[in-house]
Amino acid sequence: MSSVETQIKVKLPDGSLKSMEAGQTGADLAKAISEGLYRKAVGLTINGELSDLYTPLADGMEVKILTADSPESIELLRHSTAHVMAQAVQKLFPQAKIAIGPTIDNGFYYDFEIKDHALSTDDLAAIEAEMKKIAEAKQRLVRYNIADVDKQLGEFESQGEKFKAELLREHRDHNPTLYLMQDKEGKTVWNDLCRGPHLPSTGLIKAFKLLKVSGSYWRGDEHKEQLQRIYATAFWTKKDLDEYLQRLEEAEKRDHRKLAKQLDLFSTHEEVGPGLIFWHPNLATVRDCIENYWRAEHRRRGYQFVYTPHIASEHLYEISGHLENYAENMYSPMDIDGQAYRAKPMNCPGHIMIYKSKLRSYRDLPIRMAELGTVYRYERSGVLHGMLRVRGFTQDDSHIFCTPEQLEDEISGILDLVDALMTTFGYKYKAYLATKPPQSLGTDEEWEMATGALERAMIKRGMEYEVDAGGGAFYAPKIDVKLFDAIGREWQGPTVQVDLNLPSRFDVNYIGEDGNKHHTVMVHRAVLGSMERFCGGLIEHYAGAFPLWLAPTQVAVIPISDRHQEHAHKVAKLLESMDMRVHLDERSETINYRIREAQMQQTPYMVVIGDKEVENGQVAVRHRRQGDLGSMSVEDLAAKLKKELDSKENI
Ligand SMILES: [Zn+2]
Ligand SMILES: [Zn+2]
Repeated sequence: MSSVETQIKVKLPDGSLKSMEAGQTGADLAKAISEGLYRKAVGLTINGELSDLYTPLADGMEVKILTADSPESIELLRHSTAHVMAQAVQKLFPQAKIAIGPTIDNGFYYDFEIKDHALSTDDLAAIEAEMKKIAEAKQRLVRYNIADVDKQLGEFESQGEKFKAELLREHRDHNPTLYLMQDKEGKTVWNDLCRGPHLPSTGLIKAFKLLKVSGSYWRGDEHKEQLQRIYATAFWTKKDLDEYLQRLEEAEKRDHRKLAKQLDLFSTHEEVGPGLIFWHPNLATVRDCIENYWRAEHRRRGYQFVYTPHIASEHLYEISGHLENYAENMYSPMDIDGQAYRAKPMNCPGHIMIYKSKLRSYRDLPIRMAELGTVYRYERSGVLHGMLRVRGFTQDDSHIFCTPEQLEDEISGILDLVDALMTTFGYKYKAYLATKPPQSLGTDEEWEMATGALERAMIKRGMEYEVDAGGGAFYAPKIDVKLFDAIGREWQGPTVQVDLNLPSRFDVNYIGEDGNKHHTVMVHRAVLGSMERFCGGLIEHYAGAFPLWLAPTQVAVIPISDRHQEHAHKVAKLLESMDMRVHLDERSETINYRIREAQMQQTPYMVVIGDKEVENGQVAVRHRRQGDLGSMSVEDLAAKLKKELDSKENI
């Protein structure tokens, strides 16, 4: 072989070519670039795919050397840490059998079957300590091709590693690999079935935390073996880990299910069934305020409100195509006079019925129909989550019927409404334009018209957006808006879809200027989404401290003793006459106790009345965040509150 044939060229991220000897690895490449890069290298991407640092390179590959600074590398770190965790678990619990350990958002987990032992918090600490030893031992992770699958199967089976054996049997024709974890002397101390890639050494693992244990099933199937799952996370630095743990703690404090108990907001009941929300008076007040505001904003923008029934004959959903395409999310039919009826999963067909109740001319358009419409959808019990994933919910739904010429302005109007509402609630947001997927209904021309209108409306408003190519529904391009809450978490937000399906299914049309019938353009949009999910999210966003305009109780009036009650009554009456939600706390508890309780209930203002206040005809005002605001006349307090209410600010 001539030396030319043993030379290969790989392409670096800057586009330059690097000559290497055939068989050299990513680590050799890093070294050839610089000693500094070699020391920091933790892995590769080869043609965009994550790979082991020691992967032999071949001619023509595009290779990027990853360091801890590369965003892609966190995946290698977390997944490698999962193996370290599994090794530690088997060290402490030799009877443990290993299932799978993938990375997930912000971390990873590993599933184990541990006979006769339920993992506890104490165990997690012990496992962490063992992991630390493995990290400090700087074990190498070495990829090993399983040449003799049957031999390896025999080994797994003799070890009782039935899950690994099952996986290996399944993947026997896919070049299965083991990863050997070797000590300094090159002795294999542990191995795991995995296709990788991993870090080259456990010595790179410095900051990790085991978070919790939960139950799971082999392959997620409740008829199979019950397993124990350890959730954990890892970061490159202790600082990043600490910051993450702090965010996690903050999120836990804000958990809407926890705050619901503290603040008496909502409940669910076993007797009723899961995923069905009972709104208690406090949260019902919040919802009522939001709905009133929502209605006012819609009325100003020319929307008309409608109400539609909660059940409908199956025939309706045959026409709409829901029975064909959406049946798994719908509840079983109920029989009424021998006819099958269904609980409505969506409001659209109902709004179409209203539209079609008479002949429409282009002069009638646009028609903007809005409903706080309650729908019922089947969600698997495993995904139900407080108010965020439920089985019955009220959408702030609207359908706009218009001509193709009106579409862009209508979209623009919706985006204006989105901005107004999201700004009021203090959400930052980001928009995505989801375009035509590979499988779709409608002509290219229709997609062009609809997608173009969505995009132009965003451009004209100077909105920033990203294109989610092919991310549209099969019948509609759409704008999806993601919200960012007070602690930077992402929430699903408003959606706007231009429907290319229902108008023809229902023959939704209008008489044009030319005297002919045309299909009406139909836009679906929800701004808040569902009242359940939106309010659940708001509880967490505000950490239960609703701004004044939403607060269930806005002012607590607290007389210091009996002789101040008369003045307190007058103050409470006056505030109530201005539509304030007032709680007069005349209990004989100490003043501090009553203030603390109002504070715990996140009441924005506390008004204390003692001798001095009675004498001057004033009130002493406290704010839940700003503390003591001094004394003022009731009129001044009222004016202050009015200003804060009008601004809807969260002070
Ligand atoms: Zn692995
Ligand atoms: Zn709709």
